[in-house]
Amino acid sequence: MVRLPNTLHHLSKISAPRTINSHNLHFATPSATMTQTPQRICILGGGFGGLYTALKLSEKTWDASQPVEITLVDRQDCFVFLPLLYELLSGELQSWEVAPPFVDLLADTNIRFVRAGVERVEIEARQVALDDGQTLKYDRLVLALGGETPTQSVSGVDDYAYGFRTIDDAYRLKEKLRELETSDRDPIRIAIVGGGYSGIELACTLADRLEDRGRLRLIDRHEVLLKSSSEFNREAARQALSDRDIWIDYETEIDAVAATSISLKYRDQTDTIPVDLVLWTVGMEVASVVRSLPVEHSDRGQVFTETTLQVKGHPEIFAIGDLADCYDASGQKVPTTAQVAFQQADYTAWNIWASLTDRPLLPFRYQNLGEMMTLGHDNATLSGLGISINGEVAHFARRLVYLYRLPTLKHQLNVGLNWIAKPIQDLLASLS
Ligand SMILES: Cc1cc2nc3c(=O)[nH]c(=O)nc-3n(C[C@H](O)[C@H](O)[C@H](O)COP(=O)(O)OP(=O)(O)OC[C@H]3O[C@@H](n4cnc5c(N)ncnc54)[C@H](O)[C@@H]3O)c2cc1C
Repeated sequence: MVRLPNTLHHLSKISAPRTINSHNLHFATPSATMTQTPQRICILGGGFGGLYTALKLSEKTWDASQPVEITLVDRQDCFVFLPLLYELLSGELQSWEVAPPFVDLLADTNIRFVRAGVERVEIEARQVALDDGQTLKYDRLVLALGGETPTQSVSGVDDYAYGFRTIDDAYRLKEKLRELETSDRDPIRIAIVGGGYSGIELACTLADRLEDRGRLRLIDRHEVLLKSSSEFNREAARQALSDRDIWIDYETEIDAVAATSISLKYRDQTDTIPVDLVLWTVGMEVASVVRSLPVEHSDRGQVFTETTLQVKGHPEIFAIGDLADCYDASGQKVPTTAQVAFQQADYTAWNIWASLTDRPLLPFRYQNLGEMMTLGHDNATLSGLGISINGEVAHFARRLVYLYRLPTLKHQLNVGLNWIAKPIQDLLASLS
């Protein structure tokens, strides 16, 4: 994840053309005297796309004659730094570090936080209906509601499997693990469905937590894991799984999940095996509130955007993160990652500001900085920018990068100080 090159600041001094030209979708903004009423910027979803867009917008210089109101809506009361969610399960990190409350993060800003679920976006009326009965009008809207884990495709998943996408998922899983660990169950048999980043990171984290009592298997429908990863990271992941005796089922589909068993389909053979816990980390789908929007959607339901991140045909609406089907200025399709959502947030904030202050909008340019994975306790792998490292060094590098990426300087300092103090406290406690 990277801070955009400084060209943006330099651009802020250029005044934009005063006309709309169709092919670049720029806005002819009203003259200063007409904009006493605040421009209402409404951001739906306080994740990597939405929260960082709000924070960037609040840092922009707004002309007094063009006041803005920035409203951030989320159904949770906290931002979740998803790449560090595993560390909640392992106990290496605490909730306040990984999931800081919005009220704390936004305390020193002019951003209004509304905790509510988004029920409907009425594009014609330029308003959003929330599940607490409120209606929010907007002049600019940011869709950043992320995605959900699809659970409908296989019977029993909804009732018996555990997802791992939200803070509530992490708490629920933690509770289940505690229940199993305090039972007389030995071994504790866990099936993790989905051999992507989340599946592998979860498998290593749980294996280190359960140690000898854990019997883990990772199930994936493909013949290789992490197809889109670098060979270095793929090899490091394979090694970490084998070091932890995690069994891997390749080319295997799930037929059904039940309370204490899972049915695996390999070629035309189906085996039902007993399990104590099934984790479901398969894929991502767009929420129905987004799918039902009268805009252009991909087969996956993602919203098609221009390179400026505006929704096709709706220049007043921006769509970013997992719910957006986005090609950047170089024509590359961008993946659904935090890294992308974070970089899009910078451009979205700029383009909203530019569209309201007579400046040129910018096409999004994605900079792929590589990838990092946690592979259990004090172990990780990372490759990108010509660097490939794994083990403990990669673990520290990953932690430092994520510390730097936490939403606000205040939170970075609080967490950073805690990371320095905690080992000292533990040492003193062990000596006393
Ligand atoms: C466990 C895990 C680990 C990951 N690790 C990495 C990693 O290491 N590196 C990486 O690049 N990517 C990682 N990802 C992917 C990454 O987190 C997502 O791509 C990224 O969060 C997408 O950003 P977003 O803003 O689109 O959505 P999110 O960050 O998911 O934010 C969406 C927000 O919208 C809110 N919301 C959703 N629906 C509603 C509604 N109807 N009403 C109100 N609020 C709503 C949610 O509460 C949430 O806060 C990981 C994902 C997971 C699940």
